[in-house]
Amino acid sequence: MNLEKYFEKNREIFQLIYGIFLIILIPLLIFYNTFFIIKNYNKSIDVSLHRHSLSIGRSVLPYIEEKIDKQEITQERIEKLLKNNSELLELSVAIKNDEDFIVVASSNKEELEKKYNNYFYQFSFNQKINDGIAIDSLNIDNDKKVEDERYWKIGMPLTKNGKKIGVLSMKTSSKIVDELTRENRNKSLYLLFAEIIIVVLFILLAVRFWDYILLYKKIKELDEMKDEFISIASHELRTPVTGIKGYSSMILDGSFGEVNEKTRNAAKTILSASERLGTLVDDLLNVSRIEQGRMEINIKKQNVYETVDSVYNELKIQADEKKLELKFNSNKKEWPEINIDEEKLKQILINLIGNSIKYTKKGSIIISNYIKDNKFLAISIKDTGIGMDEEERRRLFQKFYRVKNENTKKIVGTGLGLWITKQIVELMGGNIFVDSIKGTGSEFTIIFPIIKK
Ligand code: ADP
Repeated sequence: MNLEKYFEKNREIFQLIYGIFLIILIPLLIFYNTFFIIKNYNKSIDVSLHRHSLSIGRSVLPYIEEKIDKQEITQERIEKLLKNNSELLELSVAIKNDEDFIVVASSNKEELEKKYNNYFYQFSFNQKINDGIAIDSLNIDNDKKVEDERYWKIGMPLTKNGKKIGVLSMKTSSKIVDELTRENRNKSLYLLFAEIIIVVLFILLAVRFWDYILLYKKIKELDEMKDEFISIASHELRTPVTGIKGYSSMILDGSFGEVNEKTRNAAKTILSASERLGTLVDDLLNVSRIEQGRMEINIKKQNVYETVDSVYNELKIQADEKKLELKFNSNKKEWPEINIDEEKLKQILINLIGNSIKYTKKGSIIISNYIKDNKFLAISIKDTGIGMDEEERRRLFQKFYRVKNENTKKIVGTGLGLWITKQIVELMGGNIFVDSIKGTGSEFTIIFPIIKK
């Protein structure tokens, strides 16, 4: 079994796997992408907060160092700094004494006189002068939750006359920035979920489109089969129909000897039935040629006056038989040259004038020509026939459409003539219009571009 057949047989399963695969993979990628962006964004925020904390430390340091000998002034300055700066949470000065650091001034009075000898003090003290460390509270306190207020602990060596004597420690809050970051993160997450829902819905829809594509393929195949059937069937019908037509007219013109009235009438019926059948076969052949793009058109630049005149003369007999007046008063000089297939134009005119004769009970049919918009040669066929209402006019050029009413009941036809006519007119670069009033008459106009000299 080849791959295509195998795929076709297990289509539903493949479709399902493909759908599930997309439904998982695409949201996952979007999810990953959003988290990756949020993570990187947080990292950059942390880097800038770290720098910001150190710069606060650097700006406070000289102010504290200035009166480091005077504990009271230092204490006052610390309190003042804290009062004026909402970002500052704590500020302490500890002086190194042997291995310990003793707090000599602090915004938290309880800290005063306390001795420390921890990693934070040692590490801060060992930094270069005017440099320091800044640690994020999340890295200090493991129990702290991300949603708690975050602070930064800053430690910088304190100097006096260029010598390190202790540590300036501070706590700064990053509340405002953190709140903004959290807000942004939440917004991105809401958007992310909305995106995922939309994408999933979209994929579900796309997977359903598969069915439509396959259905379309099947319909196309069936349509092609139908075209082929019509084409073969009509070809095969043509020869016997020609035979029936030929033999019945031979009976009628006496080629097989004298025939009595009864046989004559029977032969007449056979002839008219086979003529109808012949028209149907020709129409079907034309439809299949047009639909398969096999309609051959041999365009030649020419004056079509004589073509119109010959169709007029041909159909005049039919019109006379119905006691209809068929008029064509024109002059070759009035006809500009157009690009046209003469045989196809004949076919178009026979159909249009033939219809006018068919659908007119009494009165006249006038064939005329004029120049439209300075660009087109228009040929019009105007009758005083049964006419059409708006709905009928609208559907007129549809394949197999026939108006069904008392007036048309007895008139035979296939409903293909006007469809074929319109297709051929358009294939030759022209256009067809209809104007009609029910009960009064119709006017069909075909136009073709004039060739400018
Ligand atoms: P057919 O004549 O074989 O039925 P056509 O495609 O030539 O098919 O025409 C379609 C329908 O349009 C006809 O059935 C008829 O009802 C209507 N029609 C065509 N020409 C005229 C006309 N000149 N006047 C009134 N009705 C017309």
